[in-house]
Amino acid sequence: MEVTFLGTGTSQGIPIIGCDCKICQSDDNKDIRLRSSVYIKYNNSNIIIDTGPDFRQQALKEKIKNLDFILYTHAHKDHTGGIDDIRSFNFFLKKTIPIYGNKKTIDQIIRDYSYIFKKNNYKALPKITINYINDKFEKNGIIINPIKVKHHKLDVLGYRIKNFTYITDANFISNKEKEKIIGSDVLVINCLQKENHISHFNLDEALSIIKELKVKKAYLTHISHNLGLHKETSKKLPKNVKLAYDSLKISI
Ligand SMILES: [Zn+2]
Ligand SMILES: [Zn+2]
Ligand SMILES: [Zn+2]
Repeated sequence: MEVTFLGTGTSQGIPIIGCDCKICQSDDNKDIRLRSSVYIKYNNSNIIIDTGPDFRQQALKEKIKNLDFILYTHAHKDHTGGIDDIRSFNFFLKKTIPIYGNKKTIDQIIRDYSYIFKKNNYKALPKITINYINDKFEKNGIIINPIKVKHHKLDVLGYRIKNFTYITDANFISNKEKEKIIGSDVLVINCLQKENHISHFNLDEALSIIKELKVKKAYLTHISHNLGLHKETSKKLPKNVKLAYDSLKISI
């Protein structure tokens, strides 16, 4: 399996419009963070988790030419805002793209982007088939295990595919759901900043989950400018934990 981080930033991305802080002004490429998303190549399938507002730019940057299906974690705009650009894939791959999410996410996507799902034959609309998921399912011979996490009061899905687990936008994981993560070789988990936050894990919380679940390797994502410079923050992390950065590729 090969995973490419398409984006590792929080909802506003880094740099934030109008911000003069040293992180937003850094000239280290690793401090430039588009909205969070990953591209997974596995078992002859090409999977994207979330299509945020930077989806077009990310697909161009990584020269993505294949896409089989999309998994959505939740319907916040930093995770769905690029959905209209699925049509580029419809055009050149000549196929409809299936999307997956829990009921709340899919229903919210249908409300927010209602023009896509209206019954008409306007050719320029994205062609998407919707799939409601709740529990483990199989697609193209790949077992996908949704992990139910809480993002303040919102139900969000993380995903485990083989030994790779991706969790973004969470600040609570129940013991039952933690069981599903155990045994992963790689865990990607959201870490917004050092200070507490109402709907995201902070650094201490993310590190304590990584330790508790004994994952071999972990990457932090959905990072805000409050977490500090990539270079400086990286030095303070345990050996098996890294800050993810845009365009990072890992093999599992
Ligand atoms: Zn988010
Ligand atoms: Zn800033
Ligand atoms: Zn969110």
